[in-house]
Amino acid sequence: MKAAVVHSFSEPLRIEDVPKPTPGEGEIVIKIEASGLCHTDIHAAHGDWPIKPKLPFIPGHEGVGIVESVGKGVTRVKEGDRVAIPWLGYACGHCKYCVSGWETLCQSQKQTGYILDGAYAEYAKAYADYVGIVPKGVDPFDAAPLTCAGVTTYKAVKMSGARPSSLVAVFGIGGLGHLAMQYAKVAGASVVAVDLVDEKLDLAKQLGADFVINGRKQDAVAEIQKLGGADAAISVAVSPKAFEQAYQCLHPGGTVVFVALPADNYVQIPIFETVLNAIRIQGSIVGTRVDLQEVFDIHASGLTKVMYEKRNLDDVNQCFHEVESAQAKARLVFEI
Ligand code: NAD
Ligand code: ZN
Ligand code: ZN
Repeated sequence: MKAAVVHSFSEPLRIEDVPKPTPGEGEIVIKIEASGLCHTDIHAAHGDWPIKPKLPFIPGHEGVGIVESVGKGVTRVKEGDRVAIPWLGYACGHCKYCVSGWETLCQSQKQTGYILDGAYAEYAKAYADYVGIVPKGVDPFDAAPLTCAGVTTYKAVKMSGARPSSLVAVFGIGGLGHLAMQYAKVAGASVVAVDLVDEKLDLAKQLGADFVINGRKQDAVAEIQKLGGADAAISVAVSPKAFEQAYQCLHPGGTVVFVALPADNYVQIPIFETVLNAIRIQGSIVGTRVDLQEVFDIHASGLTKVMYEKRNLDDVNQCFHEVESAQAKARLVFEI
């Protein structure tokens, strides 16, 4: 089967013919229809983070397709079902995190497209218990970005405490950000969208942002403080500077949610102001299977719009460049 493979952190991906996977016990093999490009795939391919994937590997954790074969003991899904392969490819199921609704913190977890081979391929193998079940009313090309960008930002908005009277600032209107702002709207909040690219802000306006700020042309912190300061700020921009601005735009008692994972791993945040203003600094990592099911249900009921453009897997390296240089319109999704 055809797949895009990372062999080195400093070389482009290679399109190759690799053996088609076969399902072991508890596993399924999925014929991929749509496979989203998350910025995480770029970090993975570059080895940007403190923990590196083991080379070679196939990236991709927004894979949607049809179950082609099931291994021994699989009862949750059957051949012909449409499923989604998320970042959380496996968790142990019995540790204190797994049994308390925090499977995303399981210390025995395996991440798709990082530790496990992912969905930049014609077929992918997955643990049946950890795939998302795509409802009938959700298009596979919408389902793909929802499987990471959607569930991650839905969870981040939950963690932000956003509610109808809130002002929520979203830094970075990319694949994640364009959905983050929609979940904040669904929660009833007003939204300030911040990006460095005008086209991204046009998209934010189209999706219902109440205020937009181009951080290259305006002082985002001063503009948000003029609005009274944000109750919550979510950083989905791949830049430590955006995290610092997200922190600074809060009013006392506000919450900043760290979501993006730039290669440059550190921010400078003052202790004194954090203490006196009782600021909450909250990290947020993807979402659980329940969060993903809620994301699909919200989409099926027409409350969110996924903005994507289809691409060919052969063009994976150009697509990485498009996303890194912020030229992509929200999400790119490979049509497999
Ligand atoms: P993306 O490239 O689609 O979007 C990033 C956006 O940020 C772009 O629109 C870009 O123009 C904007 N931006 C860059 N610098 C900015 C700045 N200083 N101020 C405002 N906007 C700025 O990326 P994505 O796929 O949305 O992913 C975003 C990040 O989230 C990545 O680091 C990714 O690894 C991470 N991520 C985290 C989780 C998690 O669970 N925490 C899950 C998925 C992705
Ligand atoms: Zn992702
Ligand atoms: Zn566990």
